[in-house]
Amino acid sequence: MRYTDSEGGLLQVVHDKDELRKTSAEEWKALFEERAHSSVWPYGSGVWGKKEWVCPEVHPDNVVSMFEGHSNLFWAKRYGREIGLEDLWIKLCGNSHTGSFKDLGMTVLVSMVNEMRARGNAIRAVACASTGDTSAALSAYAAAAGIPATVFLPRGKISLAQLIQPVANGAIVFALDTDFDGCMEIVKQVAEKDGIYLANSMNSLRVEGQKTVGIEIVQQADWEVPDWIIIPGGNLGNVSALAKGLDLMLDLGLITRKPRIVVAQAENANPLYLSYQRNFEVFEPIAARPTVASAIQIGNPISYEKAVDALKRYDGIVEQASEAELVEAAMHADRTGLFNCPHTGVALAAMLKLRERDEIRKDDKVVVISTAHGLKFTDYKLRYHQMELEGVESQVPNPPIELAADYGVVRDRMLREIDTRFPL
Ligand SMILES: *Cc1c(COP(=O)(O)O)cnc(C)c1O
Repeated sequence: MRYTDSEGGLLQVVHDKDELRKTSAEEWKALFEERAHSSVWPYGSGVWGKKEWVCPEVHPDNVVSMFEGHSNLFWAKRYGREIGLEDLWIKLCGNSHTGSFKDLGMTVLVSMVNEMRARGNAIRAVACASTGDTSAALSAYAAAAGIPATVFLPRGKISLAQLIQPVANGAIVFALDTDFDGCMEIVKQVAEKDGIYLANSMNSLRVEGQKTVGIEIVQQADWEVPDWIIIPGGNLGNVSALAKGLDLMLDLGLITRKPRIVVAQAENANPLYLSYQRNFEVFEPIAARPTVASAIQIGNPISYEKAVDALKRYDGIVEQASEAELVEAAMHADRTGLFNCPHTGVALAAMLKLRERDEIRKDDKVVVISTAHGLKFTDYKLRYHQMELEGVESQVPNPPIELAADYGVVRDRMLREIDTRFPL
């Protein structure tokens, strides 16, 4: 494993493919399956179960893991039927220690920092700028290892659940009067000038962990490659990672065909979409406008070039969703038993558009990557159901019914609700 800067100006980890090829595709599959069902340290983790592909040199004693990964991939049968898709699957990356996919990358980064400190490298602290989920993951993993962490957040622009995570884990938490891009400017300076270790996604170690998501999806589908993988994108590290994992599977012969990748952006933070409209010939950072999909409210994505390369390799499409589209998509899907974070809503809305254009066909196998747990983002749901979400009509509101505790009154109302909502 070594580093190059050959891709998009950012460092990336390069693996020794000749070494990896000494193991056959069938042997890798068998090994990954076996480890997925064990709790042997550190292989019980979905990330570390693929250690040779991710970060071979870290010593198992220095791995910092919460057994992340192995999040469920499930068949969204009822929702799929409603929108005319028989084979729709949701990969629930939010079912993880800190409630988002960021754990997959952070376990690798913090493990390597832990290893460097064990080797005597004087790393004083780790730091990140965040739209809420990176800071939660960094704070938890750093706390688990006893490494000082400091996080820079845009004040008032992240959810309460996200804010309380680093607070509870004892990180040094700054809420700054700026947006994510402004926090990024600060953290870059403390990294350069003050020797603090930067944990943002330009750090290629995170990509190594996050790339397991695509491998895991294929593994969970009994090594069958889906036709489409749809992923919401902000800083664009996750889509780059997804493609990198698939690349390695192709390279080592575990799969022979490619899925198509769709990046879904909020219309209010859509620099990649705008660039896609111009065939990726020009890229202009934008000032991202507020979106309920706050984790992707990013106007100047760090991994833009890597993402464009990834999209070119995977016959990619970029689609966008307005606030009303993303919220309604999330809420309609919730009615079939899901509980979507707004970023997942962006991905679902993009999928609906591709389905309407019949670009996604009714028999295609589609996987939507759900990036965070819905419980981190209850505020927008509450406001939606109270019909108070600005610019959104609330097509399926379901506010609680407030009544006196009187049996007769309650019964009459209940029977009326059952009859109107579920007519025979
Ligand atoms: C970080 C994040 C994203 C965006 O991932 P990028 O790598 O920045 O494109 C999407 N959804 C959630 C919930 C996130 O935390």
